[in-house]
Amino acid sequence: MDLEAILDGVFGDVSDHIGEGKVADYIPALAKIDPRKFGMAVATVDGGIVTLGDAGEPFSIQSVSKVFTLTLALGRVGEGLWKRVGREPSGTPFNSIVQLEHEHGIPRNPFINAGAIVVADTLLSGHEPRETLGEVLSFMRHIAGDETIVIDREVARSEQQTGFRNAALANYMFAFSNIHNPVEKTLGVYFHQCALSMSCVQLARAGLFLANRGRLASGHSVVSAERARRINALMLTCGHYDASGDFAFRVGLPGKSGVGGGILCIAPGKAAIAVWSPGLNANGNSAAGTRAMESFARRSGWSIFG
Ligand code: GLU
Repeated sequence: MDLEAILDGVFGDVSDHIGEGKVADYIPALAKIDPRKFGMAVATVDGGIVTLGDAGEPFSIQSVSKVFTLTLALGRVGEGLWKRVGREPSGTPFNSIVQLEHEHGIPRNPFINAGAIVVADTLLSGHEPRETLGEVLSFMRHIAGDETIVIDREVARSEQQTGFRNAALANYMFAFSNIHNPVEKTLGVYFHQCALSMSCVQLARAGLFLANRGRLASGHSVVSAERARRINALMLTCGHYDASGDFAFRVGLPGKSGVGGGILCIAPGKAAIAVWSPGLNANGNSAAGTRAMESFARRSGWSIFG
């Protein structure tokens, strides 16, 4: 398959839409990003990489990080994680509080903020935040095969200063004993993992194990094939918050979005695809990025639905 030609076609399809949507401004450090940025990278299971536009420029991966902290947490606590967080789509926005009261402080899934805060809390137990973040960063560098990946401290600080909803979620879950560490420490881990700064190339490479039955392109095992499958299932059903159904309908691949405008998609057995365009649609997902994934899926014919 000529992936270069497919990406050229994708660019033709989306170029009129680049800059569409609204850059996330509730985290002040993200508000100043140029909305006209657009990059895309496809990392294939044979170790190849094909890129488009600003694919080498690092951006704030935000909630895409939740895929990787979930992977680490499952490695740490195994299936016991599911006592503290569910596996159902929420049908609510990323930072919704209402459901938590009905469900006694157990978040619907690990990809809404409340769920990712619980996942961060499991990684923190027995450690200091600095150690946990060191573990997250080493993991990202290892799976991306790139030692230059960093956490953007300015973005983390900016979110820390304005993260009142996330603080409310964490305190609320603490009241239900579903946060085990001091709330400020757990939130510190969460805000810093969201502030991981990665390019589309790094992100596609980091996600490749999910397309490759749990293995890196080198053959090194990260998780079992079964676990990779299950993480993909959660990405498909919960990766785009209350637009997860629409993304599955339009794209047909497991995907995880972040408010930095990044989306990571997995084409099992084939490739991991990362796209970045900072303008967000009404659901808080990259507007041009979603269009680009839709165009890519149509042009490549890659879909988990046949
Ligand atoms: N750090 C962001 C928040 O918790 C992540 C949200 C997202 O990327 O969807 O508000």
